[in-house]
Amino acid sequence: MHIGIIGAGLSGLSAALHLLGAGHEVTVIERSRHVGGRAGTVRIGGHVVDPGASVLTMPELVFDALAAGGLDRFAAEDELDLLPVTPAYAGRFPALDGLPPSVLHVPEDLAVPEHMRWQQGMFDAAYERFIAGDAAWGSYANPRDLARLGGLVRRGALRSMQHQVDRRVDDPRARRMLTFQALYAGVAPSAARAVYAVISHMDVGLGVWYPRAGMGWVASVMARQIQRAGGRLLFDHEVIGLDGRRGRVTGLRARTITRVHQLPFDGVVLTADSPVTDRLIAPLGGRAPRRVRLSPSAVVAHLDVDPDLQDHWPTQAHHTLDFGAAWERTFAEITATRGRGRLMSDPSFLITRPSVTTGEPGPVSVLAPCPNLESAPLDWDTMGTDYARDALRTLEGRGYRGISDAEVLHVDTPADWARQGMSAGTPFAAAHTLTQTGPLRRPQRVPGIANAVLAGSMTHPGVGVPPALISGRLAAEAISSS
Ligand SMILES: Cc1cc2nc3c(=O)[nH]c(=O)nc-3n(C[C@H](O)[C@H](O)[C@H](O)COP(=O)(O)OP(=O)(O)OC[C@H]3O[C@@H](n4cnc5c(N)ncnc54)[C@H](O)[C@@H]3O)c2cc1C
Repeated sequence: MHIGIIGAGLSGLSAALHLLGAGHEVTVIERSRHVGGRAGTVRIGGHVVDPGASVLTMPELVFDALAAGGLDRFAAEDELDLLPVTPAYAGRFPALDGLPPSVLHVPEDLAVPEHMRWQQGMFDAAYERFIAGDAAWGSYANPRDLARLGGLVRRGALRSMQHQVDRRVDDPRARRMLTFQALYAGVAPSAARAVYAVISHMDVGLGVWYPRAGMGWVASVMARQIQRAGGRLLFDHEVIGLDGRRGRVTGLRARTITRVHQLPFDGVVLTADSPVTDRLIAPLGGRAPRRVRLSPSAVVAHLDVDPDLQDHWPTQAHHTLDFGAAWERTFAEITATRGRGRLMSDPSFLITRPSVTTGEPGPVSVLAPCPNLESAPLDWDTMGTDYARDALRTLEGRGYRGISDAEVLHVDTPADWARQGMSAGTPFAAAHTLTQTGPLRRPQRVPGIANAVLAGSMTHPGVGVPPALISGRLAAEAISSS
């Protein structure tokens, strides 16, 4: 079969490699000029900037995809040139619950062996079948999977994540370092199900890597292997329609700067976010979920900061979570439902400095979580730069000398994510609420179209680099059997 893959993000590239491994012909069609999507690297004013993902967890999923495309482990390790990030994170805290202001490095400073064992147990019980496996309802209707599901529930997977951490961890700082990952799941730790402790295990437990050449290098290596294995990549091609009859795709139309191309395919994998994908599948009878609860969004500022000034900053880590004193209130502000969202009143920030790991000078990025456009329909085009400047002044006041005078290379706000076709201006897709998890999350198969499947953050298993890579493999398996 010849499969057309819409989007050269990590889910699309993973689907392409797994399809090549299964003996299919593939063409990846990408609207931009580069691979990687939300895990890409771009050049801004001579600087190498990662506008999206800044950490790589579970690199073996990249190795698996590359192996499917014919690149062995040793060659892949050589090409990727991954550097371990140590510490994985630094958490910087104001005075908290009677403790003085302090910095905690994880995992080094986390003395919570019982919790780490519980977290690992949750990962072991959930990963193979419920995260990395097909989540379609029917696939669970066998005694073995039902027993596994029962085992997960008995481990407390459906209790609140906060409850499970509070039971085993006393230090309020360690509690935060083990639950802030709920933000990746789009909900507060008190609302996130404990099964999402697997995210914390993926980075705090299994470790974090960074490619020497920037996050986008992962996608570049995958793209190169697709070409070596005989696959094709088309850039500057925006897919504007699917061809076919009701229930079956026969090809697609892609617009370039000069004209519209008609490309015939035996099946398609769609990886663009829901608004784009839903528009494409609707004319052929493809059905989309009716109502989706979306994750909060983020404002991300990329900066050029004098390295000498950075030497005097309160932490010397690749990733610093600089926390405000507020915690539950912060989550309540940014995850509130329609029209009730607020900007953080006592903000927490993620500061990313790849130069700490690579040893080469590079930009600094500051990520400020914020409500999505449904939660708070703010005029980001007018206020985005001022908001970013305010955030930098707050950080200057917290000891990051020189950050408020740094050259701002680029700022992304919810308005920018919306322009890129992401629902309600969030790059973090559907929240991982209980009703949007596993078999209840959008599956790979498109109801109503036999030979179109989905991959990417909107689908099972969810948001982040490892889920994107898994969803690509699951999409490849689904279309191969269509
Ligand atoms: C600021 C930020 C920080 C993050 N940090 C992390 C992190 O540290 N660790 C982590 O694991 N995850 C992180 N993530 C999440 C992670 O980056 C994403 O979940 C993942 O990269 C999504 O991959 P994807 O393939 O689903 O989508 P995308 O990467 O968005 O790929 C979709 C591709 O489709 C293309 N496309 C869209 N429409 C069309 C069309 N009509 N025609 C052709 N092509 C089209 C797009 O250009 C894009 O290249 C972060 C995300 C952001 C935004």
